[in-house]
Amino acid sequence: MLKGALYVTVDLVRTLCTIGGGPSEIVVDYIVLSSYGQNSRSSGDVRMLKDLKSCVTGKHVVIVEDIVDHGLTLDWLQKHLRARNPALLKSCTLLDKPYHRRANARIDYVGMTAPDAFVVGYGLDHQERYRNLPFIAQLGH
Ligand code: 5GP
Repeated sequence: MLKGALYVTVDLVRTLCTIGGGPSEIVVDYIVLSSYGQNSRSSGDVRMLKDLKSCVTGKHVVIVEDIVDHGLTLDWLQKHLRARNPALLKSCTLLDKPYHRRANARIDYVGMTAPDAFVVGYGLDHQERYRNLPFIAQLGH
């Protein structure tokens, strides 16, 4: 999921390609969803700005998210992709903020639990800034 998951996706795909027994063929595709707009609070209104190009029907699909907070974005995407009948649908997130869930999105793989704060860096932005930070930081600290 762009743009926040860009860095983690690249690192993940690179690792999957280099570890022994990893998938020999990985197709990377991007979907762009917006639920925050210019704010640092979720509006709860998920909008798709760009859909996938590839067909996921019958495929093993892993959603790569940057951060799950309320879970609304991931829940929306899981429903959107399930309707296309993938053979398998798994979800991973670099960061999880499990404090204020509003939707029951299933997460199969979690990198780290983040604090209950707005974080930036390593792909995560605030109004398009700070994505390029080579570390994850709490905004305003
Ligand atoms: P949810 O629907 O789970 O509340 O929203 C998840 C999306 O909101 C993430 O993909 C990300 O774009 C944005 N988001 C949620 N929390 C944060 C945060 O702490 N920092 C940043 N940069 N984005 C966040």
